[in-house]
Parts: sequence; C-alpha cells; structure tokens
Amino acid sequence: RSNYIVMSAVRSNSASTCPVLTKFQKDCDTPTPYLRNVANAIADDMRAGLAVEGGGDLDMILTYVDALPSGNEEGLFYALDLGGTNFRVRSVQLGGKKKRVIATESEQISIPQKLMIGTSEELFGFIAAKLASFVAKEKPGRFQLEEGRKREIGFTFSFPVKQTSIDSGTLIKWTKGFKVSGMEGKNVVACLNEAMEAHGLDMRVSALVNDGVGTLAGARYSDEDVMIGVILGTGTNACYVEQKHAIPKLQSKSSSGTTIINTEWGGFSKVLPQTIFDQEMDANSPNRGEHVVEFYPFFNNIYVFLFLFLQLFTVCVWMKLYEKMISGMYLGEIVRRVLLQMCETSDLFGQFVPVKLSTPFELRTEHLCKMQEDTTDDLQTVGSVLYNILEVEANLNARRRVVEVCDTVVKRGGRLAGAGIVAILEKIEEETKRMGSGKRTVVAMDGALYEKYPQYRQYMQDALVELLGDKLSHIAIKHTKDVSGLGAALLAATNSIY
Ligand code: BGC
Ligand code: MG
Repeated sequence: RSNYIVMSAVRSNSASTCPVLTKFQKDCDTPTPYLRNVANAIADDMRAGLAVEGGGDLDMILTYVDALPSGNEEGLFYALDLGGTNFRVRSVQLGGKKKRVIATESEQISIPQKLMIGTSEELFGFIAAKLASFVAKEKPGRFQLEEGRKREIGFTFSFPVKQTSIDSGTLIKWTKGFKVSGMEGKNVVACLNEAMEAHGLDMRVSALVNDGVGTLAGARYSDEDVMIGVILGTGTNACYVEQKHAIPKLQSKSSSGTTIINTEWGGFSKVLPQTIFDQEMDANSPNRGEHVVEFYPFFNNIYVFLFLFLQLFTVCVWMKLYEKMISGMYLGEIVRRVLLQMCETSDLFGQFVPVKLSTPFELRTEHLCKMQEDTTDDLQTVGSVLYNILEVEANLNARRRVVEVCDTVVKRGGRLAGAGIVAILEKIEEETKRMGSGKRTVVAMDGALYEKYPQYRQYMQDALVELLGDKLSHIAIKHTKDVSGLGAALLAATNSIY
C-alpha cells in the first residue's frame, strides 16, 4: 500500500541543485498577496459556515457557551482533558472574585498508543479509572465540595464535536491519529458517564468543551479582552466570541448577545499551497486513507480503478488540509516525504534510501525544531539528529538541504497559521469595531508547536505584520499555557446544575 519501496540503489546524481527541492520551495511559497487571499478565503468560509450547516470548509460549531467566566465562580470543580498524546485531570477550588483560584491540583498521564486505536470502552474505562484514583487521593482540607452536591466536570474533548447542548455532543470524526472504533456519531458524554458509573464514580459532566473554547475561557478569567483561543499543537483550531446576530444558522429568537464559535479551521482546504507531498500524506493518514487499506484486496481491475477514483474525490472533499499544513503532527512527516523523494532522485544520503526514511511519521516536528536550532558552521546537531532518528550519515551539503526543507515547511505552516488568525481578527472587527474604537483584542495561544518552535512563531508573527500593518498595535498575542483545564472547570461552574 505504500507509495514507496525501499530501493537498494538509487540513481546517482550529484548535481548541486536539487530539482525536487527547488520545485517544493516554489510550491510552498506564500508571498503577502497570496496570504491575503488565504485570509479572505478563510473569512468567506467562516461566513458560509455561520449561514448554514456545512456551508463552508469550516464547521463553525455552536458551542452553547454564551457566557464566559466572570470571576465570580465559586466551589470545587474538575477538568478532564483528552485530545492529544496526554490525558489530564485537574481539580480547581474557586473562591469568587476576591480569592480566585484557592487551590488546584493536576495530574498528567500519557495515553497508551493502543488506546488511541482501540475501543471506546477501553479508552473511557482508562479515563474513568484515572479519574477515580485522582479523586481518591484528594486532600480533604484543601478541596471542599459543598454538601449535597455531585462533583461536576468540565470535559475538554479536543476533537470535532457536534454539540447538542452545553453538556452533550456527538463526535463528528477523529483527528490527530485517534481512531477509536464505534465512536463517530456517538454522544461523548454518555460514553464517559457509562465508564464512570462502571467505576462507581458519582460525578457529572456539566460542560463539554473543545480545547480552543477551554483556552479562551481560561484566558478570559484573567483578561477580559481575550476574544480568540488558538491551539497550535498536535492539531490546530481556533474558537472565538461571535455576535449572535451574525449567525444566521442559530435561528433563535433572541439574537442579541454573544456566543462562542468553534471554527474547526483545520478543515479549511481551499486556495492552499498544496504539493504532491501534502496530497500523498493525506491519502495515507489514519483519518482518511483507511478505506484503501481495508477494501483494496476485495476489488479488482475496474473496481479498483473506480474505487481509487472515488477515494481521490473524497480526499479532495474531506481533507483537513489546513491542519495538515500547519500543525505539529504533520510538519515532520511532510519533511520526511520530501527528503525521501530527494533521496530517490538524487544521492542526498549516498547511494541508498535509508529504511527509517521510508517509515511514516518517523521524523517528528520536534526533530525539525532541534535541527533548526543548530547554528554551528558544520551543523553538528543536524547531523546527529539525522544519525539518531533516520540512521543516516549526512555530509554538510546534505545537512544544509535538510535544514532548507525544514525551513520551507515550517515557514509555510507559520505563515498560514498567521493568515487564519488575521481572518478571525478581521471577522470580529467587522462585527464589533473594537479596534477601531481603540480597544485591545487579545488572542490566547496554546499548544506545544507554538510554545516550543521559535522559528514557527516568528513566521506566524511575520504574517500578522504583513497582513495587519498598523492595526497590529491593538492586538496582543498571548501565550496562555495550559489554561484550557481551568477554562473547562470554570465553564462547569458557570453551567452547574446547582
Ligand atoms: C481538532 C480540534 C482541536 C484541535 C486542537 C483538531 O484536530 O479537530 O477539535 O481543537 O485539533 O487540539
Ligand atoms: Mg491539548
């Protein structure tokens, strides 16, 4: 099924220019006017998605979060966070306007790979078990639950969910390598409830939120100018405060006030600088290409052809291209694919194609970051990353090329992320004229990619400068690390049943 076979020998070609690299750089280029187009196209799809369900690439999900934290929240609340490689549980004792967060405790547990592709019973059983042991360890003096109350949870579930109320919603589809069976279309909260019951836990989910919403809410607790929550991590997303009157699909009688929209902007797929590597990666990703793997053996000739044609069609319609171009899970994989082709068409790493280079997702975004940090003349670190991760010996020329590929991918990613933020800022401005009236607008950022990759951040910032110019002086981009748990707990408080 792989597009690549490890070749024992490759064509020898030691010309100093590399056509694959040159073409790739050209295809990835995002000059300012191009970025402007992308920002406008994202804004158009936002409007289309607000008008009708499925109107554009962006789902523009209604979150049922109409009120953000005020600071008055009181009591003991919990947060569960599921969405990446880690699972987190947190308790927060809130003390109202004056005392704010009196005590908080959290625990992070990495999710075994097999649970990410197992059954929903296994995954939620694991979560409930961890939650139970967390609660059992609670120090009674530090945390106090009011008499007669159940423990209430804000559940951050960082996947596209069609919310049906503040405390229920169905999974639209898995992303980021998760592929738990029998979950798509199911009520996420019901799955958790069943598992909690089975573990004898008498707790209740009072708010089901996306991590972007959690970040927005958590950041808003200490800064009332926060209007957007952006995640740039394994996956990516943005959630923001929208005016209800600007949401035709809301069809509610009271169209005054605001509500939070979960854009699911990762689904955006128009006018992006796609390359053959992006398309191939998408076709082979666990969220897309699985049909090919499952059904291929049962089809023959014309059916294979028709099927693949259909597959290509659905890939075009469904691919979450934006997420795959800008988020952490994929940047390393794109680089790997480019390097592989460079290796196959010229002698980048000598005569052989290294086995590790043919292994999907072997090269990760953190490795790119490490290589880009290398400022030594002989690119020592680049050499050792390539040696340790891909098991290749790379000469200086090869190391330079590898860095160029990393930079191309990261530059495109950071700049496109910047264009998305601009689209949302401008959409907010259109409705509220905040900046026009001199008000500050804050974008709360979180996610490991944003946090740990300085070049990525810089490229993102460049795009903001190019597209916003002077208006940028009214905007603050704030790194709000790990506030989504606090945000979810706060939203559980806001939506408490008591
Ligand atoms: C999911 C979003 C999530 C984002 C960041 C994406 O893959 O679709 O719901 O907010 O990752 O975690
Ligand atoms: Mg997360």
